[in-house]
Amino acid sequence: MKVYVMLGAPGAGKGTQATELSARLGLPHVASGDLFRQALRDGTRLGLEARQYMDRGALVPDDLTIRTIGERLTQADAARGVILDGFPRTRHQAEALDDFLARRGAEVGTALYVLVGETELLRRLSGRLQCEAGHTYQETSRPPQQPGLCDIDGLPLFHRQDDDVETIRARLSQQLAPMTEVVSYYRDRGTLATVNGEAETALVTDSLMRAIADHASVPASTA
Ligand code: AMP
Repeated sequence: MKVYVMLGAPGAGKGTQATELSARLGLPHVASGDLFRQALRDGTRLGLEARQYMDRGALVPDDLTIRTIGERLTQADAARGVILDGFPRTRHQAEALDDFLARRGAEVGTALYVLVGETELLRRLSGRLQCEAGHTYQETSRPPQQPGLCDIDGLPLFHRQDDDVETIRARLSQQLAPMTEVVSYYRDRGTLATVNGEAETALVTDSLMRAIADHASVPASTA
């Protein structure tokens, strides 16, 4: 099982890059935020509970999040591996993921940290558009070919409810510190690769693919 973890602040481009890596590596893209939004659309208890936190930019509690990801990772299409996007977001989640994988004789391959400064994050998030399948666009710098429609699946595009300026600020202020801890967690284990997320989208993808290849060529004991 090959598990890649995408790390980065909200708006760093994790989703865009995870979609691309998923196509190139032939592994499913599993985004915790998408799972919560889907649960909300389905009107499940999980969705309604997660919403209380998402609406104010807070993190959904670890136990709920870990359970949700655990269920997704036991589905058949995840048997070969996944690209995780938005999970883990706390140290506790990172430890739970390691335990989950260790029980299956697997481990995190590379933790890919997409680094973007705060000014750029605010600019990107406030103009972000996405479709229901989670494909994202940026109004000014990466617009869809046809206004209002996803290039990939033709679904209508919308602004996420938590992409208003106030919630964006709350998300950044509440989520950056735990994310930094997760970055340190993987750095300490020698599995972290950091790429400049402010470069052009295609260049960021190239850097990520190179990081994965470099990491794969280092013996596990020294990685
Ligand atoms: P995202 O689409 O990754 O920006 O996630 C949207 C929202 O879902 C976040 O602002 C959090 O409220 C919640 N969320 C997503 N992933 C996690 C996670 N790993 N831990 C806790 N909350 C999460």
